[in-house]
Amino acid sequence: MRYVAHTISRVPGSGVTAQVFCMASECGENSGRKDDPDSAQDWALRHTGRTGHDLFCRDFTDQARVTRAE
Ligand SMILES: [Zn+2]
Repeated sequence: MRYVAHTISRVPGSGVTAQVFCMASECGENSGRKDDPDSAQDWALRHTGRTGHDLFCRDFTDQARVTRAE
């Protein structure tokens, strides 16, 4: 069986989504999945202003396509 090389790359124009999770152990709040990463990060800024929690996990997603290498 012959090995066939493939590559994976981001789909142009597919956009990036983001979700930001507060890491404070007693909190558990998160931004919800946002189509605009800036709005997820705005949520974090507001959350810090409201609660003083300042450590977050940022989760970004994109769409990728696998194509067969020539
Ligand atoms: Zn928090």
